[in-house]
Amino acid sequence: VEDSEETGSRTVPAACFSRIRALQPLVRPTVVAQSPSALSLLDLTEQDVLSDPLSPEYLSGSRLLPGSEPAAHCYSGHQFGLFAGQLGDGAVVYLGEVESGTHGRWEIQVKGAGVTPYSRDGDGRKVLRSSIREFLCSEAMAALGIPSTRAASLVTSDLYVNRDPLNSGRRVPERCSVVLRLAPSFIRFGSFEIFQGRDDFSGLQGPSAGRHDIRAQLLDYVIETFYPCVQQTHGNRKERNLAFFREVMVRTAKLVAQWQCVGFCHGVLNTDNMSILGLTLDYGPFGFMDRFDPDFVCNASDKRGRYSYQAQPFVCRWNLARLAEALGSELEAAQAGAVLDEFTLTYEAFYLGIMRKKLGLVRREELEDSELVSDLLRLMHNTGADFTNTFRLLSRVPWPEEGDSEGATAGPAVDLILQQCASVEELKVANKPTMEDRELAMILSMAQTNPVMFGMVADTPGVSQQLERMGRLKGLLETDQGELKEKQREDWIRWVSRYRRRLAMECDGTTDLSLVKKERLSVMNSTNPRVVLRNYIAQNSIQAAEKGDFSEVGRTIKVFSFFCKISM
Ligand code: AMP
Ligand code: MG
Ligand code: MG
Repeated sequence: VEDSEETGSRTVPAACFSRIRALQPLVRPTVVAQSPSALSLLDLTEQDVLSDPLSPEYLSGSRLLPGSEPAAHCYSGHQFGLFAGQLGDGAVVYLGEVESGTHGRWEIQVKGAGVTPYSRDGDGRKVLRSSIREFLCSEAMAALGIPSTRAASLVTSDLYVNRDPLNSGRRVPERCSVVLRLAPSFIRFGSFEIFQGRDDFSGLQGPSAGRHDIRAQLLDYVIETFYPCVQQTHGNRKERNLAFFREVMVRTAKLVAQWQCVGFCHGVLNTDNMSILGLTLDYGPFGFMDRFDPDFVCNASDKRGRYSYQAQPFVCRWNLARLAEALGSELEAAQAGAVLDEFTLTYEAFYLGIMRKKLGLVRREELEDSELVSDLLRLMHNTGADFTNTFRLLSRVPWPEEGDSEGATAGPAVDLILQQCASVEELKVANKPTMEDRELAMILSMAQTNPVMFGMVADTPGVSQQLERMGRLKGLLETDQGELKEKQREDWIRWVSRYRRRLAMECDGTTDLSLVKKERLSVMNSTNPRVVLRNYIAQNSIQAAEKGDFSEVGRTIKVFSFFCKISM
């Protein structure tokens, strides 16, 4: 271990964890928000936290809990498609594990607790903005029934670091804040990538005698602890590992299907942010979509849209391929490839399964349902419909009765949907190409001079999307508001009629119709959230908090725990 005077960072050969002796305390830490449901995982209540004067110190890592064994984890990862080498817990410290009587075993981390051996040039601190986003979204996801790491408390302090919140080149002091995170494990795909291309790990034996190298030990630990079924059913090591890889593939496919079905965009799907347990991990520039847009990108630094909403399933598969590579000789490459080939179908089955519930469909009509969903999404995109609200409003579409006149019966529901669709002006803004003007101008000039080359360029995904956007924008420039509303209404009536014909197929003639109708509504209402953590909600909480008012953060947590009990 070599200490560097300047940065405090160290080169730590052949290590994937480093123990930390003491954490840097905050100045006057204060608990400003708690999540009762996350605290309960540790058998703690809000009152327990409030009544102990040392809580702010314990919950921020400023004072070590009795029995705590602080450590930082060293991992690698592919960032934006390229192998980035060693990353690691630069701002996070493990405090240890808690075995709670009723809720099992939980790992505890403090995020923003100061410099670790893996902080590189960073200060290991987090500010109020980023901590509130992580705190709120961890709990919002859990309330939506989506697997996630949890956040139990938020502590802020009178210790300041300088940050540039608007990327304007101007740094301002911001309060250091710490989130207490919980998960069964924070191990990531990147935790296995650390062993790649590193000679210092080869031949290294871990602490338990008679076992394999350190990568194999980490793998054994993960499977034995978190995949006990896989461990029990497979005697042969290679078979066991393949079964594990398949299970990670399935969990990842299910997770990304759930994201897509609530309009959640992670924003930084690097392999170091992919949980080995299939949890949503690391909340940075995430975003929930308002108006549906498949090209939605929530990360301002993601200029090419690598991590756009519609790219997420593909990116997850790509990340799984990197995990397979990192597991190397632990997996048979051809067999791992076959598991990867199952990803798309697995994902699509989860996705369609949830979408069916969002539409209140209990029976399965494979082709029909898939088209019904994709046509709905296209319509939502074209009319600028709000993703969350539209699904919620679809439960107002009346059940088809004999002798219905389509337009008249479905009219009121369609009008509700139309009320939250975009105006011409809003659609113009929404359809503005995101690519730089000069890049588009170049592509268009190619079209005039070299059609073959243009065809090639126009077929590449990013470019074809931009051209589509331009086409829509051109159409809109010639449309007025009245015309638009009429067209939107016709299109929605047409889709709703089709939806109602599909609803009619739900009755098999033997089940009581009133039960079928009731079931439809209960399935829809328990799958379509009334609220998601829209950006403005997080932003309002942050703005108030930066002025010292944390009531908005508390209210948001309450809203999610009371109104958002969703199961997918
Ligand atoms: P992220 O983009 O949050 O997934 O982080 C990428 C890498 O940067 C990880 O290795 C983090 O541990 C590290 N990192 C993030 N914030 C800080 C910080 N404030 N100080 C040191 N390292 C950090
Ligand atoms: Mg990360
Ligand atoms: Mg982060």
